[in-house]
Amino acid sequence: MADLTLMEKIVSLAKRRGFVYPGSEIYGGLAGTYDYGLLGVLLQENIKQIWWRMFIDEREDMYSVDAAILMNPKVWEASGHVAGFADPIEGGKMFNVMFTTSVGAGEEATPTYLRPETAGGIFANFKNVLDSMHPALPFGIGQIGKAFRNEIAPRDFLFRMREFKQMEVEYFVKESEWKKAFEEWRALMHRYAEAIGLAKGTVHELEVPPQERAHYSKRTIDFEFDYPFGRKELWGLAYRGDFDLAAHTQASGVDLSVLDEETNERFIPHVIEPSLGVDRTILAILVSAYREDTMGDEARVYLALDPKVAPIKAMVSPLLKNKPELVAKAKEVRIELQKVHPWIAWDDNGNIGKRYRRQDEIGTPFCITIDFDTLGEKPELKDTVTLRHRDTGTQERLTVLEAAKRIREAIR
Ligand code: ATP
Repeated sequence: MADLTLMEKIVSLAKRRGFVYPGSEIYGGLAGTYDYGLLGVLLQENIKQIWWRMFIDEREDMYSVDAAILMNPKVWEASGHVAGFADPIEGGKMFNVMFTTSVGAGEEATPTYLRPETAGGIFANFKNVLDSMHPALPFGIGQIGKAFRNEIAPRDFLFRMREFKQMEVEYFVKESEWKKAFEEWRALMHRYAEAIGLAKGTVHELEVPPQERAHYSKRTIDFEFDYPFGRKELWGLAYRGDFDLAAHTQASGVDLSVLDEETNERFIPHVIEPSLGVDRTILAILVSAYREDTMGDEARVYLALDPKVAPIKAMVSPLLKNKPELVAKAKEVRIELQKVHPWIAWDDNGNIGKRYRRQDEIGTPFCITIDFDTLGEKPELKDTVTLRHRDTGTQERLTVLEAAKRIREAIR
């Protein structure tokens, strides 16, 4: 394995263990697309749930939409994407990276685009949210969903894809409040990085210089991560001024201003946008969790995932598979632990060391083994189990209730 690069090892593990498969693989693939398998789906759900909790639930000022991916093309004309969302190809010729498609049949068919970012669906619903939820400024609208870009050179696994997922917030403020809001979201993004197990100091800020920022942005910070292929953008945080709502007001003819209750004047809210890619986050997590070491004279690979994001929270195993009393007791223990979390795996295949290695490789933080002492062979150990820790391989003898508590505390 030593001759493979870290990225090759991660891509191979991801496929072999059911995290991520290449898209349309049996037909030779489709560049820039990937399909998540069970473990990838669970990891992704955990990442999205923690985002949802920190960016929406735990705040008092957040709303949400789940907007259609297909939108009236006027949305993307107003936002500037039709004219300018392009990358250079040969000789400086510009290529618009929005995917085009058409809606309706025959002569009725009208061309439109697959959304290149989720933000468009938020701005287009700004007035709906105002009219239905009556929020007071400052407030935000968050959304998780797919985005599509016909990237000229998709590459680096989940880093540059043609179909990917974003977790975005558009946070609406009075102009005078933008700096305070910007700092709040900046700090929250760092807290989120830590919450999902990206260690402090592994996410770096890049202050984007004025000449590289969008013309309407007074401040943009790229949050970068050290991928094996270099330090690259993981997430973005931008102050977008009043560009979006002003542009949509002008293009749609619908007034998207709000009333300032103090001055009794109407104004167009300004926007702070924390934008996080789900897939790039997953890649960063896999890269930072991947470990190789030796344990008991054997080389091993493990994922040091934070228990909060680990797809499987624990594995339960009877020491021997051909002893019905052990199997029955282990099943009981599993049911007990599944009260803490549904994803408690079962493995009774092969020797116990092999079972541990299989779980290490997918980042399962705890393995629980049921043996004859659990059944009361040593009466003082009756109803205790061994709990093995993934990173160190150390084991402790605990009651089932204590093991449940360990898991509960680790995934909170
Ligand atoms: P880059 O400069 O790398 O192309 P960007 O600045 O165009 O990225 P944004 O438009 O700011 O990216 O999108 C917000 C977030 O969406 C990014 O920070 C990233 O996490 C994610 N993202 C953007 N493009 C892709 C892609 N092609 N594949 C996977 N994730 C992406």
